[in-house]
Amino acid sequence: MNTRHHPSPDILAAYAAGALAPGFGLVVGAHIESCSACRVQVGAFEAASGAALEALPDADISGDALTRVMARLDEPAQHIAPPDTRPLLQRLSLKPRRWVAPGVWVAAVDTPHAPEDRVYLLSIAPGMPTARHEHSGAEFCTVLQGAYRDELGVFSAGDFAAADGDFNHQPVVEGDEACVCLFATEGRLKAHGVIGRLAFAFANV
Ligand SMILES: [Zn+2]
Repeated sequence: MNTRHHPSPDILAAYAAGALAPGFGLVVGAHIESCSACRVQVGAFEAASGAALEALPDADISGDALTRVMARLDEPAQHIAPPDTRPLLQRLSLKPRRWVAPGVWVAAVDTPHAPEDRVYLLSIAPGMPTARHEHSGAEFCTVLQGAYRDELGVFSAGDFAAADGDFNHQPVVEGDEACVCLFATEGRLKAHGVIGRLAFAFANV
């Protein structure tokens, strides 16, 4: 996978620290799953923050702390679920896919731990115009399949894009395959044009 667009170091550091809103973390995670360079960087940030924790002075173990730790050793082992190693797309909990125009569908992603996040998959067939839209807040996007082009260049599978409130763009699908993207947005998008308004209204995103 030829990934050309990566999250900024600030975003990767926030991801490593678990400081991103869950929906935004999901979109960064989708990029990292396919990008070994960013996986290495996130690992370095995690190691750096682990070293910072180790550098803290030891806590004063007083009172019954040791007794409580020893008591826990006698408790039955907790069941630990094996890590879910399926690709991210298969782990997403998707709401029903809604066709909002010929060749365009949207599926909201259930984020039970962060109901205020708006996370969704958007698929646009080749040749379909997308909605020129403005952002009222931050938007993260990772391309899962196909490619699109906007003022910043071509974004293909694995590429990551972040936009803020001042960005106004109209992506165009590249190639002959539908472009599927995973989005997280903060605030509602203001779409221009019929398809955009329909898409965002039907998807309730
Ligand atoms: Zn990357």
